[in-house]
Parts: sequence; structure tokens; C-alpha cells
Amino acid sequence: MALAAASSSCLLARNLSHFSSSSSSPSLPSSKPSPLSPFFPCRQSQRIVFCSATAAASPSSPFTEKSSAERYRRDSWAYGSGVPLPVSAHQNFSDRENEIALQLPELKRLLEALRAARRAQAAGGRCGPGCVSLVGTGPGDPELLTLKAVRAIEQADLILYDRLVSNDVLGFVRDDAKMLYVGKTAGYHSRTQEEIHELLLSFAEAGANVVRLKGGDPLVFGRGGEEMDFLQKQGIQVKVIPGITSASGIAAELGIPLTHRGVANSVRFLTGHSRNGGMDPLYVAENAADPDSTLVVYMGLSTLPALSSKLMKHGLPVDTPAVAVERGTTPQQRMVFAELKDIVYEVKLADLVSPSLIIIGRVVALSPLWPQSSEEAVVLKTWQRSSSQIE
Ligand code: SAH
Repeated sequence: MALAAASSSCLLARNLSHFSSSSSSPSLPSSKPSPLSPFFPCRQSQRIVFCSATAAASPSSPFTEKSSAERYRRDSWAYGSGVPLPVSAHQNFSDRENEIALQLPELKRLLEALRAARRAQAAGGRCGPGCVSLVGTGPGDPELLTLKAVRAIEQADLILYDRLVSNDVLGFVRDDAKMLYVGKTAGYHSRTQEEIHELLLSFAEAGANVVRLKGGDPLVFGRGGEEMDFLQKQGIQVKVIPGITSASGIAAELGIPLTHRGVANSVRFLTGHSRNGGMDPLYVAENAADPDSTLVVYMGLSTLPALSSKLMKHGLPVDTPAVAVERGTTPQQRMVFAELKDIVYEVKLADLVSPSLIIIGRVVALSPLWPQSSEEAVVLKTWQRSSSQIE
């Protein structure tokens, strides 16, 4: 089986090499290269799922979400001697100072040091307001960072980072910069949106150069708009550095044009989260059932069954091509291709987990990886046949 997988891996690697998005840039610092491995079909639950070689070998997350030990090592300065205290989702921020001191004693000390430095600068007549940069880090591959993002990260005094910022991206942070995880993964110490606002405000007011890192683009399903609005109302200067949103990064990785003349004349980014918290994937599904448009669904794994049946009910052909991609653009990328009528079943069989992105539309069949056309079908069939012979 290993031999069969390796041989089909070679065939696919050749076909894919022309659209790999991981070419290196001479001007980027290259401290943490992340070579994307060629994809190959790996057997899971009797089905074919496209994986990178690394995904099959190492199922660990490329993101900060699961690697809590690594995260607490990075953030350890902030917790002093103790383990971080749990934070209630219903805190009152009437006394922001005490809150920061209680939760994070070292953070409080840093804030005081910054204020002292600021007072000294003010006495010398040099004191500008603090600034917050909302920086998009792209879907995971650090080579997809913009030069602006790299420069902002390198110049930051304090970095607040999210769950979907990849560990490789954090490799660009200066050794003496302070980092704090503010993601919202269930089960870990996490911060409410209000706490994040207060932290950003306190440090910016104290004159720190604060960088708020967000996966993808900060203004696409990233709550960047809310943070920008809050800080601007408090008189803090906010800079937004866009990132490659996962739709663009992943489409490029798979060779899918999101729009294509004669195939898709528009593209729509949807959230799979239902506004009322239930399983109903949006009332927009009705007018989203447009065969001339590409749909990209963010956060859509749990509501995919309801969304796909709604789309078909409203007239989207059942054989519309679709793909679901887990941990796209990282070495742990996995993906399943299927027609709309089968995508729920295939995603379940492959056991895809968050973060996963779903692309639905005729453009998906333009990918050289679409298994129902071109030579990939032959590769897959050959692989399936030879692996079943070996088993
Ligand atoms: N601001 C981000 C989106 C945040 S919402 C952006 O512009 O991409 C989080 C959702 O984005 C995830 O649930 C998933 O649907 C998608 N996503 C982000 N990164 C991803 C990745 N590397 N692979 C697959 N999906 C990803």
C-alpha cells in the first residue's frame, strides 16, 4: 500500500507543481520555511482523501489552537509564577486596571513600565499616541504573509494572536516582543471579545506598538471591524494590514479559479454559522442557489447538511462540484472532492475537523485534482486498484 501511495504521489506532484503557492520570496525573512508537500490520495474510511505527505504522517495542528504547551511557553512571561486564572465570560470591566493585574500580573508590570517610558518621553516632548495594527496572516502557510505583515510583526512590542494564526507565522516575532494568546478555543483559557478590546486599548494608550494577529484577512469573518470600531471610538489609531483570506489561499492551492469566464460570474463568501446558533444555515441559502456563482463557506462543517439540502431544494444541481478542505495551505492539509449530493457523506467519512473551508460551484471541476475528470481519475483508480490488491 505504501508503495502504491508513493507512486501516485509522484504523478500528482508533477501535475500540481505549476500552481503551488509556496514559492519563496527573496525579500522575506526565511527563518521558518514551510515546504508544502505534494498531495497524494490516502486511504481513510475506505475512501480517497487528498492529503499532503506530512498530513498523513503528523496529524498535529499547524495552528496555535491545539498546541497549548507551546502556546503557554510563548506566553509564559504574562502569567508570572502562576497558572492563568479562568476568565468569566460575564466580567464587568469597570475596573480595567485591577482586572489586568488580577489575571496577568506580568502584563500589569509591562503596562506600568510602558507608561513610565511614555511619561519620560512626554517630558522630552516626544510622545505620540499608541497604535494598533490589525494584521491578517493568511490561511497558514507563512509564505502567504504580506511584506507589510512581516514588518509589522517584527516591529511589535505586544502581539495578541488568535487560534488560526499558524505556529510558523509566530516564528517572525522578535524574541523580546511579548505575546499573548487571545483565541477562543473551547477548553482552554480564552478571552472574551470585550477583554480583547480592553487589552488592546490599555496597551495602545500606554504607547505600545500593538499588533493584533488574525488568521486569513482580519476583515473577513474576523471581527476586525468590531475591534477597529471600538478602538477608533476611544481615539486610538488603527491600521489594517490585509491578509490572504482562506478562500483565496485555498483556491489557489487547489488550482480552482473562484470566478471563471462562462463558468462563474460571481463569488460569494458565506458563514455557516447560523445567527440564532442553531443548525439552520442561513436564510440566504435560497438566493445562494445560483449555478453561475461560486459559494465559499467559512465555519460551515456543522451546518453543511442543512446548507447542502437547502441549496439542492432551491435548484442548485445535485451534481454541482464541491470540495471541503481542512487546514488548507499547511503541511497538514486534507481535502475531499464530491458532488453536492455526496459532499456531506464524504466529509463525514473523512472526519474533517475545523478549520475547514467548503467551496461549491462548477469552478471546482476546473481543479486538476477534481477526481471525475482528466488523468487524476486514472491515477486514483490505479491507486485504488493496486492498493486493494496489496491489502
Ligand atoms: N479571517 C479568516 C476567516 C476566519 S473565520 C479568513 O479570512 O480566512 C474561521 C474559518 O475560516 C474557519 O472555520 C474555516 O472555515 C476558515 N479557515 C481559515 N483558515 C483556514 C484554513 N487554513 N483551512 C481551512 N479553512 C480555514
